[in-house]
Amino acid sequence: MQEPVEPQTSALTGEPQVSRSRTDEWALDAAVRPLPASADVVIIGGGIIGVSTAYFLAREGLSVALFEKGRIAGEQSGRNWGWVRQQGRSPVELPLMIRSLAFWQGLSAELGEDLGFRQGGSLYLAETSAALDELSQWLPVAKAHGLDTRILSGSALDQVLRPDGVRWAGAMYTASDGRAEPNRASAALARGAERAGARIVSSCAVRGIERAGGRVAGAVTEHGVVATPAVVCAGGAWTRLFCGSLGITVPQLTVLGSVARTAAADQVLEGEAWCPSIAIRRRADGGYTVAHGGSFLHSITPATIRFAGKFLPALRQGDGSTRLAIGREFFRAVMTPSRWSLDAPSPFEHQRVLDPAPEPRVLGQIRAALQRWFPAIASAPFVETWGGMIETSPDVLPVISPVDGLDGFYVATGFSGHGFGIGPGAGRLIADLVKGAAGADDVSAFRLSRFFDGSPIRPGPAI
Ligand SMILES: Cc1cc2nc3c(=O)[nH]c(=O)nc-3n(C[C@H](O)[C@H](O)[C@H](O)COP(=O)(O)OP(=O)(O)OC[C@H]3O[C@@H](n4cnc5c(N)ncnc54)[C@H](O)[C@@H]3O)c2cc1C
Repeated sequence: MQEPVEPQTSALTGEPQVSRSRTDEWALDAAVRPLPASADVVIIGGGIIGVSTAYFLAREGLSVALFEKGRIAGEQSGRNWGWVRQQGRSPVELPLMIRSLAFWQGLSAELGEDLGFRQGGSLYLAETSAALDELSQWLPVAKAHGLDTRILSGSALDQVLRPDGVRWAGAMYTASDGRAEPNRASAALARGAERAGARIVSSCAVRGIERAGGRVAGAVTEHGVVATPAVVCAGGAWTRLFCGSLGITVPQLTVLGSVARTAAADQVLEGEAWCPSIAIRRRADGGYTVAHGGSFLHSITPATIRFAGKFLPALRQGDGSTRLAIGREFFRAVMTPSRWSLDAPSPFEHQRVLDPAPEPRVLGQIRAALQRWFPAIASAPFVETWGGMIETSPDVLPVISPVDGLDGFYVATGFSGHGFGIGPGAGRLIADLVKGAAGADDVSAFRLSRFFDGSPIRPGPAI
């Protein structure tokens, strides 16, 4: 699907800055078709997690209604780098990612649409032998899970990364890792869910829920109430706010990532590569999605202060990749109500799509890193740049969990910068959880209560 863009030139960088605004085929849906009176499951959020969950549930014959306040994949799921990687993940989520990769392998055929999924491998590049030794520490995890991860250097590395005069000490490489096109994947899954009978409604926020006898009885949307015994909150960066309004604490903060897309250029690699200063992925259109390898901005809000203790381990581990700033976001968060009336517009209707501007200085750093590490494509113009608000949990691992005291309510969030690749696998697991078919071992590591029951918070790797 080609998206129309509205090019503007950034006064600071001279690079094009494009607002990722496009309408989609569901935009007017709620206005023209009445909502279903009831559904077996209501899903909040049309990102990769929500649409994957809808897809699996609907295929198994459950009636599903998914509500997206803006447009399908308008937030993280349409703004990410498009990496579908196992490499470097925490052993806690790696089995789920391996299952997810198996879904990706069959999805394009199953959905009858090319999601741009290719297994072109992922590379973590090391400038020095010390950095290579550090990367190698993940090899035992790969071995324990039967992955094809190996260390490459010299001519072996040259076979998967065109050298172009750049000398790397070596790289960690997983040939089975993949990539896919974020702008296609969630929409295709949403269409697949619709074909299986799900109702996908965009431009329609869920304001809250109705309860009866301590359990979920309905979802209150801006266009009416849908009676349901089960609600999955897959609201991405909005999950903390939504759950907070129900009295459920979800420790969640956000960081801003800046991303650029180049015009088509020579092929220098088939998959994706990362080092601390650049992250680059070959795109289906022959260009590259490029970002800084470790420069994210966290705008301090009252939630930062509230959850500081829980996020401290992740911040320490982050090696300075997250910068802190205080400004407008703080006051905006202070002005956002934490509870609201369900018969008036909610905060979700006030901001249909979280569309932050990319940081000009980071875009400049990306251009400089391209010149240094990928000279053969360094002059390829940026044809689009964007910001993406990444939501994270304290241990950088997902939350896929029922909630104590509110039967029928499930939280699916905290994918912490690597939820695109794991999305289909997570959707399958969430569907099983809702149906009561998930194994206890499969979900216990992802329970929400781990942040409150005294369990130590041990952050997994962020990249
Ligand atoms: C810059 C960037 C790079 C990334 N790179 C990668 C990568 O290479 N590989 C990878 O695996 N992951 C990557 N990620 C992470 C990945 O994109 C996310 O983890 C994943 O998309 C999360 O999906 P989601 O469905 O949980 O959230 P989202 O995609 O954010 O979707 C949540 C949706 O819920 C909607 N919503 C919220 N509240 C309501 C409400 N009350 N009513 C109705 N709708 C609501 C929102 O509008 C939103 O569309 C990256 C993320 C970013 C931003």
